[in-house]
Amino acid sequence: MARIELASLAHAYGPRPRGDADYALKTINLEFKPGGAYALLGPSGCGKTTLLNLISGLLVPTEGSVLFDGTDVTEQTSEQRNIAQVFQFPVVYDTMTVYENLAFPLRNRGVARQALDLRVREIAEMLGLTPSLMQKARRLTADAKQKISLGRGLVRADVSAMLFDEPLTVIDPQLKWELRSQLKQLHRQVGTTMIYVTHDQTEALTFADTVIVMYDGRILQVGSPQELFERPHHTFVGYFIGSPGMNILHASVEGRTATVAGRAIPLPRAYDRLADRARVELGIRPEFVRIAPQGEGVPVRINRIDDVGRFKIARVSLDGQALSVMVGEDTQLSGDSAAIEFDRAHLHVYADGQLVDGKA
Ligand code: ATP
Repeated sequence: MARIELASLAHAYGPRPRGDADYALKTINLEFKPGGAYALLGPSGCGKTTLLNLISGLLVPTEGSVLFDGTDVTEQTSEQRNIAQVFQFPVVYDTMTVYENLAFPLRNRGVARQALDLRVREIAEMLGLTPSLMQKARRLTADAKQKISLGRGLVRADVSAMLFDEPLTVIDPQLKWELRSQLKQLHRQVGTTMIYVTHDQTEALTFADTVIVMYDGRILQVGSPQELFERPHHTFVGYFIGSPGMNILHASVEGRTATVAGRAIPLPRAYDRLADRARVELGIRPEFVRIAPQGEGVPVRINRIDDVGRFKIARVSLDGQALSVMVGEDTQLSGDSAAIEFDRAHLHVYADGQLVDGKA
């Protein structure tokens, strides 16, 4: 298991890149600690697979280097780096049995027969493949084939890291849920560094201790699920994570006061004068906006109420700006107007999308 460092790493698929736009991955510096469970999370095309393939050695970067335990492995193959990688679609040998498929990576490394047998059966059991161990892979469903792929990725405990590229895409929803928790459990058992690519926040947040949020070839934030929820460093992170995402309101800010639609909103911190031409926004999660008692709060118009079971989500607008508000089942709303109040401690200020650190 290796400590993986990416030093000034950047990648362009075309020759002679000139500007930022030519790079699928803009310059990044990042470290993966041995034994960590990481997710690379972001929308389609943001560079997750590119980054994963640079780590595994399937791609050689245009710039920068990849280090494993301090050794430069930038020019090494996946095999030399000792990486196990699982892809979106099954990679199995159809003519082999499930057992042989799982045993293959171990045989390649010359693992003794008894240890091999033990490990193959252990992984098969974990993935629910025991009943089909002696069947030819060709006869199995797409779900089962993808489980074999996962098994082949997980079977060797001595790898530098296990990399997963959207491995649950072809799996049906119920099984997806099961496999996700099994992967998490497996990570605890084997303790190998795992890096998991997904565009699905639920997958990322349930699996990973550390989530790396990407957008347009850049890393916007690296943090625990809690950090991403409580203190998004970028409006995109606030919006992308959470259900619904963070409310973002155009505002002006001076000292300890924000002004939204002519209403003063007290802030938990003081802010220096923000650049004149910056786009200033206030961010607050729906969980921290409440319906105010009568006669208090900021007036809003109620557009719609979504009942999602344990609570309701009121979709409101504040002078034309849309907001979501979590409303308890017992809160009564009538008519199309209400007033809201903000949990001050959870208000954040952003300039041109970036979180601004206020002063206590
Ligand atoms: P997805 O979830 O859709 O796979 P991603 O976040 O993994 O997206 P990448 O596949 O890394 O993103 O793609 C990043 C950018 O690089 C995209 O603009 C994509 O079109 C481009 N790209 C990816 N592979 C190649 C390639 N082989 N040749 C040229 N451009 C590529």
